[in-house]
Amino acid sequence: MIVMENVYKKYPNGVVAVNGIDVEIEQGEFVYVVGQSGAGKSTFIKMMYREEKPTEGKIIVNGVDITKLKNSKVPLFRRNIGVVFQDFKLLPKLTVYENVAFALEVIEESPRIIKKRVMSVLDLVNLKHKARMFPTELSGGEQQRVSIARAIVNSPSLVIADEPTGNLDPENSWEIMRVFEEINARGTTIVMATHNKEIVNEIKHRVIAIEGGTIVRDEQRGEYGYEV
Ligand code: ADP
Ligand code: ADP
Repeated sequence: MIVMENVYKKYPNGVVAVNGIDVEIEQGEFVYVVGQSGAGKSTFIKMMYREEKPTEGKIIVNGVDITKLKNSKVPLFRRNIGVVFQDFKLLPKLTVYENVAFALEVIEESPRIIKKRVMSVLDLVNLKHKARMFPTELSGGEQQRVSIARAIVNSPSLVIADEPTGNLDPENSWEIMRVFEEINARGTTIVMATHNKEIVNEIKHRVIAIEGGTIVRDEQRGEYGYEV
């Protein structure tokens, strides 16, 4: 589902964040991306949803070479990808329900389908009872669950998460993992950059370790492998 060939990313300031990556990720895989701060993890995953373009190399996602995609086609391409951030990025003036419904309203789904899908994903993240609340009325763990509901409401085939548990306590982090495990069990590919050693070592999945912009380790059912 994701293929990178000979991928490099040099930012305009001259920093080479990704320095020659070749990788393949199959549909349905769960992949942790680990490595020290500044290793290039965010840049690596941002290139998967065309948030950053590589300076060199080829990136195929779902059969499409996204390095050649016109900017005007990017929104359509992203409909099949859910993205989850460390800082949630919810819209503060919208309720939980409206935050999740937003993506479906943009693509003009019917109100009946929107309601059904929004309530179904809120149920999956155990937040149906808070549909009318605003993000500021929720705990951090709850806000992250809303952001996951928003990411998956379109039934994307790929979910990309950049340190989704970075701002959460252990209990909330495990709850986020329960949701990811469940959507992965339904066939969704998950790519998750993380510093959470406990989670990576406990819930075993493929581990891609990045250092200095290259992949230094790629193991099925791998270990975290760093002290922090
Ligand atoms: P990680 O996610 O592993 O912390 P990043 O991909 O964020 O790594 O960063 C890799 C390198 O690229 C770092 O040296 C960082 O400072 C640099 N970098 C990241 N984003 C930008 C940017 N937009 N412009 C310039 N340099 C950047
Ligand atoms: P957690 O233990 O998950 O971190 P909190 O202790 O922050 O949760 O919150 C416990 C409950 O109180 C949550 O269900 C949350 O929705 C609710 N809550 C937290 N802050 C507010 C607030 N400012 N207004 C209304 N409800 C809140």
